[in-house]
Amino acid sequence: MKNNSFLIYLVIFLFFYSALLFSQNINSFSNPPNDKIKLENLSLLKDKIIQYHSSGQYYKDLQRICGKAWDKLKRIKPDSNSTVVFDVDETSLSNYFFLKDMDFGYIPFLWDKWIDSAKAPAINSVKALYDSVITKGFKVVFISGRRDYQYAATIKNLKEQGFATFDTLITKSRNDLPISTSLFKEMKRIALTKKGYKIVGSVGDQYSDMYGKDTGLKVKLVDYMYFIK
Ligand SMILES: [Mg+2]
Repeated sequence: MKNNSFLIYLVIFLFFYSALLFSQNINSFSNPPNDKIKLENLSLLKDKIIQYHSSGQYYKDLQRICGKAWDKLKRIKPDSNSTVVFDVDETSLSNYFFLKDMDFGYIPFLWDKWIDSAKAPAINSVKALYDSVITKGFKVVFISGRRDYQYAATIKNLKEQGFATFDTLITKSRNDLPISTSLFKEMKRIALTKKGYKIVGSVGDQYSDMYGKDTGLKVKLVDYMYFIK
């Protein structure tokens, strides 16, 4: 008899417990954690990006951001180790027209072919900021998420677009692939600091260009085309 009572209580408990779990599942479906994200048709978003560029607003925003950055950087009196770190894609060089032709999709072999062509144009506002930085006597280092096999094409592209003076370009090796770009870039900045570089600014289109230590002034540019962690 005692055993039977125990079983009845157990069945009642399991029934209510299951009901509770089920109701929580229902809630989690009706209230997704990212319900603040405004859902929009993908083609409308692509049109907005094109409009943002073709209206000139993108270039105006970059000019404003780079102008403000220079207002701050120019107050620093550089010593022989003061360095500004620049990202490459959508920072120093633009892939906008290539990506637009690809309908903003990522097709790895076409992307690699594009990088190999070394034809990405400079982003004028960033080039102006780079020129000011070099003229003032800062060092420049490029840290890019591009792969090692794209190193030579990247150097060629940067030089042909006027980014002729820099200490080094750092790209991703096979060993760097398992870690996020945020961590990869932070590790490379820490390594530069250990070598004696004094990083006074980090310029990039992604937050992963300026995550963590040794960034100096963070100069975040706009980029609505993609997000890199
Ligand atoms: Mg970039």
